[in-house]
Amino acid sequence: MSSALRVHWTIAPEIAPRPLINCNRCGFVKAYRCSEKFRVNANGKRIDAWLIYRCVDCDNSWNFGIFERCNRRDIAPALLAALESNDPALVRSHAFDIVALRNQVGRVEEFPDAVVRKQVIGGIKQGATVLDLRLGLEIPVSLRLDRLLANELGISRSRLHALDERRLLTIEPDGAKALRKPVREGATIRIDLASEPDRRTIISAAGG
Ligand SMILES: [Zn+2]
Repeated sequence: MSSALRVHWTIAPEIAPRPLINCNRCGFVKAYRCSEKFRVNANGKRIDAWLIYRCVDCDNSWNFGIFERCNRRDIAPALLAALESNDPALVRSHAFDIVALRNQVGRVEEFPDAVVRKQVIGGIKQGATVLDLRLGLEIPVSLRLDRLLANELGISRSRLHALDERRLLTIEPDGAKALRKPVREGATIRIDLASEPDRRTIISAAGG
């Protein structure tokens, strides 16, 4: 549509989840934060790799197993080099792997805050009355869609729900019920702002 501004949002979580571990030094359950360092052990042909976590209070360490007793032949040299150099992208991909963390620890503290990078991908800026948002996720986030939209557009969640009730808000897939669920990769949101007096502020907050 000619009156729409199309914007792509790339959403990245800000703080890595923290496993809650019975710290044997503190004597209590404590949050452990990611040290952003791997430990690699080579024992003959067998290799172990862990991501190291540390108790937020006493610095005691806990090892998050990436792989254990793996045959050296099965590990790509580039992966081994990335582990040995604490490659930040590799650290990030494991530190935010909430499913793998939960499998090893059970309880994990999550932080819903996210950084949003906004990029105009088409449409018109001047005089736009419709906002077309496309969401991309670097890593799954636990942030609810209505919270994300409210934070980033500078409008209240109740107003978002009111826009939905007036059929001015369209979400694909899943429709309005997606508002109360975590943000999904590839979701598109269309908001008709033609009757909103502050639409220029909202469109500019969206990245326009
Ligand atoms: Zn401790």
